[in-house]
Amino acid sequence: IDVTGETTYKETTASDLEGAIQLGISYTVQEASRMDQREVLIQDFEVMESVYFPRKGSKWTPPHHYKDFHFKIYAPFGFFYFREKFGIPPDDYEVSLCSKALLEQSNSGASGSLFCLSSDDKFIIKTVQRKEAEFLQRMLPGYYNTLLRNRHTLLPKFYGLYCVHIGSKYIRIVVMNNLLPTTVPIHLKYDLKGSTYRRQASREECTKPLPTYKDLDFLRDLPDGILLEAGHYDVLRNTIHEDCLLLQSFRIMDYSLLVAIHKIQQGTEESPPLVSDYSNGVIPATTCKGEKMWVFAGIIDILQSYRLLKKLEHSWKAIFQDADTVSVHRPGFYADRFEKFLWEKVFTRRIPLKSSLSKSSRV
Ligand code: ATP
Ligand code: CA
Ligand code: CA
Repeated sequence: IDVTGETTYKETTASDLEGAIQLGISYTVQEASRMDQREVLIQDFEVMESVYFPRKGSKWTPPHHYKDFHFKIYAPFGFFYFREKFGIPPDDYEVSLCSKALLEQSNSGASGSLFCLSSDDKFIIKTVQRKEAEFLQRMLPGYYNTLLRNRHTLLPKFYGLYCVHIGSKYIRIVVMNNLLPTTVPIHLKYDLKGSTYRRQASREECTKPLPTYKDLDFLRDLPDGILLEAGHYDVLRNTIHEDCLLLQSFRIMDYSLLVAIHKIQQGTEESPPLVSDYSNGVIPATTCKGEKMWVFAGIIDILQSYRLLKKLEHSWKAIFQDADTVSVHRPGFYADRFEKFLWEKVFTRRIPLKSSLSKSSRV
C-alpha cells in the first residue's frame, strides 16, 4: 500500500497492473478467435507470445492511460484449447475479465501475492513467482491430460498464464476458477493442509469480515467434523485421492483444501444455491449436532514443487523442529498426511444411504 492508499505490487500501482491485464487479455482473446480449430500439440505449450502496448497505441494495440508495457502470453493456443474444453466461450472470458473493474481481494497468504476477482465472481487472478510460472508451463501437458479425464477433480483450473512487463518489473499472473460462490453468504472458510504446526489464523486475520481459518481453528470450531451422505462422501474421497496422486507425481506439496461453509438456518429448507458453471459445485452436509450446511471445496496453491523450491527449507526446518509436524515435507508424506487429516478430522463420517432411507420410510 503506498501513500495514496493504493496497493502497489512490484512498484506498479494496482490500477496500472489491472489496466495492463485487461488490455492484454482482451488482445489474447481477439487473437485466439483467429486461431485454427485443431488439436493441441506438445509444441503449443512452449510458445510464448509478447505484445508491446505503448501508451499512444500501435497498429495492433489501442491507446491507453497506463504506463507502456509488454504483455506476454504463455502457451496462447494451449490455454485457448483448455478454455474451450472447459466450456468457456472466448467472449465470456473476455467479458468477465475485461468489461468491468477487477475487485482486489485481501490476501491471507504469507507469500505477498496479489489476488483479484472478476466482477462476476467467476475468475480469480493471482500473481505468481517466476519459478511457479515456469513450473506451470512445464507441467501443463500432463496436468491437463489428467484434468480433462477426471470430471470431478478439485484441482485448480488454470485458464491463462501471463506476464506483464512494466517499468523494469515482470509480474506474472494466472487466471483460475473462483471457489467461493456469491449466490449465498459464506459463514466460515478454512485453508486446510493437514498440518498442525502454526496452522492457526493470525489475530489480524481473525478481525477480517471473513477470515481464512486454518487446521487448528477447524479442530476447535468443528471438533467432531462434518458428516456427508455416502454418495457425496465416496465421490469426494475418490476425487481427492486421484488429485493427490497427480500432485504427488509432479512432486507438488504445500497445497491446501479450501473449504467454505454456508450454514443453513435451523428449521428452514434451502434449495441448493445456484453456482457458476465453472465452479466445483456444492456439497450438502451436516454437523454432528444435525446443523445443515452447504460446503464448497477445492484444492489451491499447487505451484510449489518440492524439487524446485523446498529442498533447502526442508533440511533446515527438519533439524530444528519435529519433522513430522512441519508443513514442508516430502510430497508423498504430504499427500498422505493431507488425506488422513481430511478423513479423520474434517469429513469424519459417511452416512450410509440405507440408514437415511430407512429413516424416511419410518416417517
Ligand atoms: P502462501 O504461499 O503464503 O500460502 P499464496 O499467496 O500462495 O499464499 P494461496 O495459498 O494460493 O496464496 O491463497 C491464499 C488464500 O486466498 C486462500 O487461503 C483462500 O482464502 C484464497 N484463495 C486462493 N485461491 C482461491 C480460489 N481459487 N478461490 C477462492 N479463494 C481462493
Ligand atoms: Ca497457500
Ligand atoms: Ca503459495
